[in-house]
Amino acid sequence: MTQPKHGIVLGGGWAGMLAAQVLARHAQTVTVVERDVLPDEPRHRKGSPQGRHVHVLWSSGARIVESLLPGVTERLLKAGAHKINFHQDLVTLTSHGWQHRFPPRQYAIMCTRPFLDWHVRDEILAGGRITVRQRTEILDLVGDRTRISGVRVRDVDSGATQTLDADLVVDASGRGSRLRHWLSALDLPPIEEDIVDAGIAYSTRIYQAPPGATDGFPAINVAADHRLREPGRFGVVYPQEDGTWMVTLSSTRGAGLPTSEDEFLPYARTLRHPLVADLISTVEPLTPVAISRVGANRRLYPERLEQWPQGLVVLGDALAAFNPIYGHGMSAAARSAAALDEQLTAGGDESGAARRMQAAISAVVDDPWIMAASKDVEYVGCRMNAKDPRLTGGATARQRFSDLIADRAVRSSAVCDVVTDVISLTAPQSELASSRFLSLMHQDRVLPELTAPPLTPDELALVDLSPSSLAGVKGLTG
Ligand SMILES: Cc1cc2nc3c(=O)[nH]c(=O)nc-3n(C[C@H](O)[C@H](O)[C@H](O)COP(=O)(O)OP(=O)(O)OC[C@H]3O[C@@H](n4cnc5c(N)ncnc54)[C@H](O)[C@@H]3O)c2cc1C
Repeated sequence: MTQPKHGIVLGGGWAGMLAAQVLARHAQTVTVVERDVLPDEPRHRKGSPQGRHVHVLWSSGARIVESLLPGVTERLLKAGAHKINFHQDLVTLTSHGWQHRFPPRQYAIMCTRPFLDWHVRDEILAGGRITVRQRTEILDLVGDRTRISGVRVRDVDSGATQTLDADLVVDASGRGSRLRHWLSALDLPPIEEDIVDAGIAYSTRIYQAPPGATDGFPAINVAADHRLREPGRFGVVYPQEDGTWMVTLSSTRGAGLPTSEDEFLPYARTLRHPLVADLISTVEPLTPVAISRVGANRRLYPERLEQWPQGLVVLGDALAAFNPIYGHGMSAAARSAAALDEQLTAGGDESGAARRMQAAISAVVDDPWIMAASKDVEYVGCRMNAKDPRLTGGATARQRFSDLIADRAVRSSAVCDVVTDVISLTAPQSELASSRFLSLMHQDRVLPELTAPPLTPDELALVDLSPSSLAGVKGLTG
């Protein structure tokens, strides 16, 4: 594509800001349209309600952000974010038992969302090439079925409407994007949509971590076991940038959710292991309970439309949003921004450029989509309105294979390495079907099953727990 003169990004969230940074490399001018005021410090805002809940940025996404903004990882870590090496710095009860803490392979950045967003946004806007139209609401797209030429917006305070012209519009307006509606107003056929909804809900509180336990203590993760064929309950205790623990309890449909302060600890006791409850029972809660019921996997297929208008692409949650338990949304958005960058750099024929860009962006959300959706269909009560044949056919055989892998990964270092590469979106999901991996599944040495969380005596001392209180897991193991 010839380089755009003016690019407009709809939405100034995580995906929108990364897309704006990419556009700033190629377009003469870039405008971000955002309904909120974007805070000039780490602060919650209305348009990012998920920001009150646990977020991890996987290494694949962190590397892309670093390549777009060199030095930003160091900035985050210096300001207090945690780099959690998988699985050395993490104690996890997986569906198949306690995970051995193998040497580091991939990592995740852990900190609050307002902190992450602000540092990244600050770096992006410091470049001085991007204009942000805050308190400005997107109304609809301007153009026709062959080309989008801009966007109509409304000033939230004055109510004044205006048309902004652009030769490339990027929809990054999140799960609530009205793209399908906007395109049907331009007489385009509906974009196909798949939804897989396990009824995920999150309940989150922040606690003061015990002295010394913010740095020297691992992140904790207690997962449900889908093989029990009952609604799933999960819990995590993740260190944050300011010496606190963010504790999120989450559930699939039918498993209830603690919605008040009184219910939080008792609910934590109902997880498959009491570790989360034991950790929070003696520390001070600093916030009330925040709730989110936004967690369905939802994906659009714009690349399937016979005709896709020039001058338009969609990415981030507006294109594909996932069950947040897998922690893939921000990394998928980063991968989409990188795909957009590659396409703009490659250039090529003007006609069909937006279609090519969209195909490249859509391709990189396929792995996180199928990983989350194919797992979620296993939960009882999951609702599905999806045509993806990988979700509707051969589910039993697929699940049996993924159970075999999960069982092996908790006890085999080599298998765990490959699985961690895939889960972190560093390696493609197809790696799990490679002959190299299949031979690892048969050959690698397997360690004994762990019967209690793999915490060292020093770590237990930091949180005042004894090994004897930690044995035993509810339900199936192995
Ligand atoms: C509870 C929860 C936990 C999560 N945990 C993780 C995690 O651990 N790791 C991870 O990678 N991902 C996680 N996610 C997903 C992650 O939050 C999203 O993938 C990510 O924020 C998507 O960014 P986005 O920019 O596409 O959308 P959003 O963050 O929703 O941004 C959209 C922006 O568009 C603006 N906007 C919307 N409509 C308009 C309009 N009409 N006019 C003007 N502006 C508009 C909004 O104000 C907002 O700023 C989680 C999600 C949830 C719900």
